[in-house]
Amino acid sequence: MDEIKLYSPKVMKDILDRYGFKFSKSLGQNFLIDGNIINKITEVANLDENSGVLEIGPGFGTLTQLLCKKAKKVVAVEVDESLREIHRGTLNYPNLKIIYQDFLKTDINKLIEEEFHGMDVKIVANLPYYITTPIIMKILEEKYNISKIVVMVQKEVAQRLSASAGSKEYGAITLAVQYRADTNIAMIVPNTVFMPRPRVDSAVIEFKILKKPRITVFDEKMLFRVIKSSFGQRRKTILNGLSNNLKLPKELINESLVAAGIDPGIRGEKLTLEEFGRIADEISKRKIGGVYENLY
Ligand code: SAM
Repeated sequence: MDEIKLYSPKVMKDILDRYGFKFSKSLGQNFLIDGNIINKITEVANLDENSGVLEIGPGFGTLTQLLCKKAKKVVAVEVDESLREIHRGTLNYPNLKIIYQDFLKTDINKLIEEEFHGMDVKIVANLPYYITTPIIMKILEEKYNISKIVVMVQKEVAQRLSASAGSKEYGAITLAVQYRADTNIAMIVPNTVFMPRPRVDSAVIEFKILKKPRITVFDEKMLFRVIKSSFGQRRKTILNGLSNNLKLPKELINESLVAAGIDPGIRGEKLTLEEFGRIADEISKRKIGGVYENLY
């Protein structure tokens, strides 16, 4: 059973025929068919007998198979129920649990607490491209007890993650990642290693979660709200972007920006993480009526 190489194009075609499975473009189903890339992903993840792995979107299980061999336990979250039957026939590992659910609607903190007691938890996945950004934002915002994330994403997304302030690629996700992790592009992957082939190349990125976030803010939720509001409408000034999206009085936002030393007429895409931190703190301070200095 362990010997079936699920990534082999021949095995994959057999499964397609046997189960009458059709790849769903709208679910981002581009499955890996290259054993070297799968090896490399698990190498970057650096798994051992104390590792718990949360996989997003196992598909046929090409990556899952190797994860199960290297980690203590694997929990995979897959939205496509029609894969259930295939998994019954191909993924027979005692340390594997598959949950058929939308990752974006899953309570991951609860899942980690219940499934991976005492383990060093890592997220490893070949992400569905249509929701890469919401998945990464969810992971970073919800603050899971994990040490690492290793994910395959489109090359263009990988570049956005390491963009600098003011550049076209700079966005809310760039800042969320900077706040929480050290990032490394482990390798660029050609589109030929997938079935079916996506239009663009991909990259494997590694996020090492920092023990302590890169900056200290009073209210982390406010920081994320400020960042997301500032990039919602890129052409708006920071003042208009924030007052429209945070649903707070324009005067309060204006005062907060000035107190943080930020020109209210600037656009969010020019600001650094530290500047966003200052803005978030000034807004929090005004929202709770000035008692905030005593709360640190
Ligand atoms: N891991 C497999 C591989 O590398 O061959 C499949 C990767 S494929 C790029 C993405 C997988 O994510 C598909 O199996 C797809 O059905 C699944 N998926 C799509 N949207 C999802 C969601 N919202 N939650 C969980 N899984 C999802």
